[in-house]
Order: sequence, then C-alpha cells, then structure tokens
Amino acid sequence: MKEILLCKYGEIVLKGGNRRYFEDTLVREMRYRAANFGNFQITNVQSTMTIEPADDFADLDGMFDAARRLFGIAAVGRAAVAEKNMDSILEVAKAYLPTFLEGKKTFKVEAKRSDKTFPLSSPEISAAVGGAVLSVCPRLKVDVHHPDVTLRVEVRDRAAYVHAGQFKGAGGLPVGTNGKGLLLLSGGIDSPVAGWMMAKRGVRLEALYFESMPYTSEQARQKVLDLAALVARWSGSIMVHVISLTHIQEELVRNCEEEYFTLLLRRYMMQLANMVAKKQDCQALITGESLGQVASQTMHALNVTNALAEYPVFRPVIGMDKEEIVQLARHIGTFETSILPFEDCCTVFTPRHPKTRPQLDKVMEEEKKLPFEELCREAFETAQSIYIKAKF
Ligand code: ATP
Ligand code: MG
Repeated sequence: MKEILLCKYGEIVLKGGNRRYFEDTLVREMRYRAANFGNFQITNVQSTMTIEPADDFADLDGMFDAARRLFGIAAVGRAAVAEKNMDSILEVAKAYLPTFLEGKKTFKVEAKRSDKTFPLSSPEISAAVGGAVLSVCPRLKVDVHHPDVTLRVEVRDRAAYVHAGQFKGAGGLPVGTNGKGLLLLSGGIDSPVAGWMMAKRGVRLEALYFESMPYTSEQARQKVLDLAALVARWSGSIMVHVISLTHIQEELVRNCEEEYFTLLLRRYMMQLANMVAKKQDCQALITGESLGQVASQTMHALNVTNALAEYPVFRPVIGMDKEEIVQLARHIGTFETSILPFEDCCTVFTPRHPKTRPQLDKVMEEEKKLPFEELCREAFETAQSIYIKAKF
C-alpha cells in the first residue's frame, strides 16, 4: 500500500487569472523542500498538490511536517492510494483506515468523485466503504451527524485516495508573491512572530539585527541567527544583516539627555533600516512593536520613530496582547529560543525614566547634538551579511 500527501491550497484559490502563477510557485517551493527528505513526485492536479514518495527511502513524516509549514497550503492530508475500482478501494480502506479509528466510537464516510465516469455514485461509495470499515472494526458505529472521525474517499483522475481527514496547514500566500520586507529582528519574542506573520502574507524576508559589542555578546548574535533559522523553516532562507550600534550608543550616552536615549537610538535604527532596505531592494520594514508594551511603543513614541521611515512600516503584532504573541511564538517554534537570557542593544544604557509622551521637535533638537547622517553612514559601513539557509 502506498501512502501519499494531498495538499489543499488556501487563499490562492480565490485568485482569478494569475492563480496558475501562484500554484506553480507553490509546487516549485514544495519540490525544493522535498529535496531534503528524499525522492518524491510532486504534481498539481485539479487544484490539489499530490506528493508521492518515489522510493522506499523517502521520509514521508518529515515531508508531512515540512508541507504543513509552507505558506499557501491550507491543509495537508495523508492518504493511501487505491486503483480506481471498488475492490481496490475497499481493500485499501480496510488496511489503512483502522489506525485512524483507534479509541474512537463513531465515524462516517464521505466520498467525492471528481471523475464522473466512475460507475458508483458518491453515496454508494460511502456506503460500501462504511461497510468495509465495520467489517474490520465491528465495535464502531456509524454516526452521520456528529462522528468522531470522518473518513474520506476521493475518486480523482489518476487514482482513488482513502484518508482520515486533513491537518491544518500554514495558510496564507506563497512567500515571494508579495514583495520583500526588511524585518528588524531582535532576540525577543515579538519580532520573529512579526516576521512570520508577514511571511505568511507572501512577503519574502530579509532581516536586520543591531548589536552593540562588547555590551552585547557573541551569544546574543547567535541567538538572533538561530531565531532567523527557525523562522526560515517556514519562510525559506533569510539574509541577516548585522550592524554595530556601539559607537552611536556611546556618543548618545556622552552627549544626550538620558531620558531620550532609547528614542534617539530607535531613530538611528529606523534610518539604518531605510538604508539597508534601499540597498537590498526591500519595499517595507517590519517590526515587532505592540502598542503600549514599553515606553518606546506608545503612540507618541511610535510617531517619533515613524517620522523617519521611508517605507511603510508593518507592525503585525501592534494590536496583540503579549499572551497572544507568546502563543504564536510557541506555534512557530521560536519561543524557547527567544526567552534565552541574552542582552539586546536596546537594554544596554536604558534610561531610568524614558519619555512616554515625547514630542518630535524636542527629540529632534536633542538629536542635533550629534552628526546624525555621519554616524549612520559610519554604522552602515559595519554591516555584515550572513545567509541563513533554511533547513526544513
Ligand atoms: P522583541 O520581543 O521583538 O525584542 P521588544 O518587546 O523587546 O520586542 P523593543 O526592544 O522595544 O521591543 O523593540 C521593538 C522592535 O524593534 C522589535 O520588535 C524589533 O523589531 C526592533 N528591534 C529592537 N531591538 C532590535 C535589535 N537589536 N535589532 C533589530 N531590531 C530590533
Ligand atoms: Mg527587544
């Protein structure tokens, strides 16, 4: 008996003329991921992607998890393949379905024929498969209204498939179909989640990390690269740019009023992000800011940093509670890494009493004490780019 994966497309089925483009993009991306798990045959038939192991060595479990992390796929099912005749369908159903029924009391069968030349109607197929399942699992009962499990038979072009339902996929749109965004990635909980949310909308990610050695450590940098690698399991490979803010921070401490440190630093970050975005041809910036979470994320403070932005700044977690962000971080797999205790450049030299209702003109006055452009240019020169190749 041969087991395969059936992937259902998500939002792209709503697309009109360019739907084909979206489907092709997804198939290409799935093939690329599959190369990590052995030999598979991947085809797109009737708006379903089928993933078939091409030999006995192909790792279907690994492929199943990887397929569920591909944006654009709404659901992934595991299914057994039968020939397009009832003998084969019943035989496969009896052999394959019982494992999905362990511990269950009731089930129903739903059959679907996209091949209308098949001699039995859908209700007839359902009844026959239901009978076959009962013959091998006699304690089960059929319940067509509220079954514990719904078993499915799909008679399609090339074969019939028997399965026990679908598992939720990543949803969203294929990465790369909605431009490229520059994610300001810190070692915290929020920014990896923010990047993941935008990747889910089809945005290809590059990342920018600001460090402040020796005030921040090598481990802090490694943590950020590890987070990028975890996000990349969903989004695909990510180029991480690392820029040193050490000199800027030292100048701020030496020359500016303490209560403005963080705000000024964030304006430098924004300007450097503009510069990286321009060089890398990104069309938006992405941050993990959440309204009111800290002093630099009040509406007044956001206005002060946003005033410099030359690109739209996407803040997908702006309206989320910390608990909701944490829940997503766990789902993505970044939470455990995010809570490792390494310092961030924002947490060194933090003012004791940061301004929560800053005024832009006052901040800019403070900013004029330093040669803003020159310090940015100098920091930009420190940029290093590290390619994080996705391991699916
Ligand atoms: P996070 O959990 O993502 O670190 P946070 O709650 O700690 O967020 P801040 O430190 O105020 O919040 O940072 C707000 C946002 O600014 C971050 O989500 C991130 O997008 C960006 N940011 C902060 N520090 C850095 C950094 N060192 N490098 C790059 N971006 C940063
Ligand atoms: Mg942070």
